Formats: sequence, structure tokens, C-alpha cells
Amino acid sequence: MSNIPNPRALATSLRGTECESQPSQELPRSALKSTLTNAIDHARMSQRVVAVLMILLARSDRLDAMLGIPTGQIMQRALRRVATALRPADRVVQLSDEKICVVLPNLRSDALPSLAAAKLLHVFEAPFAIEENLLTVRPIIGIATFPGQAANAEELLVHADIAKHIARSRDVAQYVFQADDRRAADTYTGLNIELREAIRTNQLEVYYQPKIELKTGRCRSVEALLRWTLPGHGAIPPPVAIRVAESNGMIGSLTEWVLNTALRHQSEWKHLGIMLDVAVNLSTITLGDAELPRLVSQALGTWQADPSRLTLEINEDATINDLEYSLAIMNQLKKMGVALSVDDFGTGYSSLSYVKRFPLDELKIDKLFVQHMRDNKGDQQIVRSVIDLAHNFELTVVAEGVEDEATLKDLKRMGCDIAQGFVISPAIPSDALIEWMKRHK
Ligand code: C2E
Ligand code: CA
Ligand code: CA
Repeated sequence: MSNIPNPRALATSLRGTECESQPSQELPRSALKSTLTNAIDHARMSQRVVAVLMILLARSDRLDAMLGIPTGQIMQRALRRVATALRPADRVVQLSDEKICVVLPNLRSDALPSLAAAKLLHVFEAPFAIEENLLTVRPIIGIATFPGQAANAEELLVHADIAKHIARSRDVAQYVFQADDRRAADTYTGLNIELREAIRTNQLEVYYQPKIELKTGRCRSVEALLRWTLPGHGAIPPPVAIRVAESNGMIGSLTEWVLNTALRHQSEWKHLGIMLDVAVNLSTITLGDAELPRLVSQALGTWQADPSRLTLEINEDATINDLEYSLAIMNQLKKMGVALSVDDFGTGYSSLSYVKRFPLDELKIDKLFVQHMRDNKGDQQIVRSVIDLAHNFELTVVAEGVEDEATLKDLKRMGCDIAQGFVISPAIPSDALIEWMKRHK
């Protein structure tokens, strides 16, 4: 293991100091509802506004694990920072290891919560100096207000939470709940039934995102990404669709459908003289399913596909439940000649042991690190280390989420093998991909 860069050492050179005050606005969880109800009662009488800010500390716990920092250290420091950005009358409650709720009572206008959120984001701009590491935490904030977007305390909390989910899925730092969002959220709970129907009535599609070889600029492979458009509603974010399928036992059928669709398209491209490797994502649950190898070999047989032209992207968390079992399944897949890739590398709990123990071909650096690598030294060092790590283990390394030319150039200079991202192309339907490939030659 001596060649593996120690992630703890990554940020050592960025050491800094920090001094923060003790939060006076912090409340226990049990006091949240009553505090909020009182604030609402008061606002009703005085015609003021109450806001709830639901804050997710994106990546904090995962980074904790990667760097070996005990969970909770970052949260304590984050709570103090939040408090410094607030008024004395505002209240802060820790809801979980990564979630904070802020109550802003007695506001004069609906516009103020966004300003408060901007201030909160600002206090998180400086990294946290914890032990020998400098960690950047990027909060994601969902906002809802009374009386504009909720009628009572319960609704206010739910709506702020929905707003936070929307912020996360749209990759924005803050989002204010809108009247239509509740309908959309209610639709999600009805998705269970809709998914069966979706598979049956062809509401599902697979789009393909090209990946390019940085040395040559050539595209030799694509990633298959699920798309679901629900009539009368619009696009369902793929992670939502996957979660629904996982929770109602349909994930096997969904994986089978995506796999078969992707291999069918691959064989169509081949007939047009376009040779492309295709990568299919596996959900966390699928890797623990003994049926998976059979399902993959059947799909390969049906479309007479070359196994070495299929990559399965495994999320890092996928093996957490049962390491030995997942390893056995991976070995079976590997024996069939299929390539294995670890998706979102660097965000999970087991990055380094993964590389050592599993029969891998590729690492994909998570887009969270790639997107900010030009203006965040810590992210840049993580990207550089993962590239070195991959090469030390003779693995191909892919950077996902490349959004600009400058990052593309930097990655090439850093020796990254393959890049994927909006600067090259978003995921597009098979027909559009065929046209793209003709232009891209
Ligand atoms: P992922 O596997 O990490 O896929 C990459 C996601 O990043 C895709 O989002 C892609 O559209 C998006 N992306 C690509 N380039 C860029 C970029 O330059 N900037 C930004 N901001 N985003 C970029 P998408 O299609 O919404 O999928 C989200 C996630 O849903 C996927 O993340 C994957 O975990 C899951 N997913 C999608 N399709 C499937 C599937 O068929 N099966 C399973 N199990 N999971 C899937
Ligand atoms: Ca993926
Ligand atoms: Ca990914």
C-alpha cells in the first residue's frame, strides 16, 4: 500500500487556524416544533414572516470518513459558524449528522431569508481547519416561509426540506420553496405505482453521455443514463426513480431494462460502423443480488455483445452491506469479461480498501471534486491523488462533471485518461449520439 497517497496528508500543506464563538442560539431537537409554533403565532399577530432554512452539509460525513476525522467534529464547528451569521433571536437545531435547521422569526419581508442564506453560504467559504486537514464544506439550503409558503409549523419544515432536495438535485446552493413544488413532491410518493406503468408504456428512455480520451480527443465509450418523463408532470430525476425502484423491489427489472436497452443500442451503432463501449450504472442493492450475473450474461447473449465492451459502474457505497458477498458477485462478473468501474470515487466510506480488494478496471472521480478543482486547492489535490492512485494500480481514471475547457486542459496535463461532462456533451438520445459521433470524428 506504500504507493497510495495518504488523503490525510493531502491537506496538510493547507493548514490554517480558526477561532469561533460558542453558539447561543442553539436549541435541542425536541424544542424545534414549539419554538416554530410560537414564532408563527407571533408572526400572525404582528404580520411578520417566519422562515425555516434546512441546511445540508454536503459531503461532510463522507470526508470525515475518508480523512479519518471522527463524525461530529465538523458538525460542531459548522453549528458555531451558522450561529455567527445569525441574529440573536434566530434559532439553530441540529437534526442529524449532516442536517441543520435554522428558524428565522419576526422578519419584515419574504426577501430576507434568501439574504440570510447568502450570508450563511458566505461563512462557509473559508475551509475548516480540523486536525491536520483543511476541509471545505458546501452547504445546500432549502428555504420556506410562513405565511407565504406554509400554513403551520409542520408544513414549514416539510416545505423547507423539499426545497433542500430540489436545491440538491438542481446543483444549486439555495432554493426557495414554490407553490408547485408540493404537488411535485406528492407526485413522487405516487411514483411507486407509476414506475410499473412506466416500464410497460415506454415512458422510460436511456440517454448516452460520451466520454473522451484526453490524449487523442477520441470518443470510444458512453455512459447509459436513465430518463423518465411522467405524463403531466415532466422529468423525474434519475436518483428519485432509482430510489423508488429500490424501495418497491423493482430495481432488478429496471436494471435489466436499462442493460438490455443499452446493449440493443450498442448493437445498432455497431451496424452503422460506430464501435462504442457502453457503461451501465448499478444501484447499491443490485450488487447484493445473486441474480445479477445471470441477468448480465443473458443480456450479453441476447444482443450478442462483446463482454469487454460493457462496463458496470458500481457506486462506492454498494459494498457496505456485505463486503464478501459483493466481492463474490464482482468476481463472477469479472470472469465473464465485463469491466468494473467505481463511480463517485472519493465520496464513499471505503475508497482505499476498495481499490486494493476489488477486481476493478476503472475509477471515476466524483464530479463534486472535478467541478471546483480550478478554484479549490483541496479538490485539485484530491483529483491529482486519485489520478496517481489509479495509475499506481494500473486502473483507467475518468473525471466526470467537466464543465469547461480550462478544467479539461488541466486534467489532460495531470495525466487523467478520460473525461466526461457538459463541456463535451450532456447525455443525449441514441439518435442524437449517432449524429454527434459523425460530427466528432
Ligand atoms: P452518475 O452515475 O454519477 O451520473 C452522472 C450524472 O452527472 C448524470 O446525472 C449526468 O447527467 C450528470 N452530469 C454529467 N456531466 C455533468 C457535468 O458536466 N456537470 C454536472 N453538473 N452534471 C453532469 P443524471 O443522469 O441525472 O443521473 C444521476 C444519477 O442517477 C447517476 O449519477 C446515477 O447514480 C443514477 N442513475 C442514472 N441512470 C441510472 C441507471 O440506469 N441505473 C442506476 N442504478 N442509476 C442510474
Ligand atoms: Ca455513473
Ligand atoms: Ca458519478
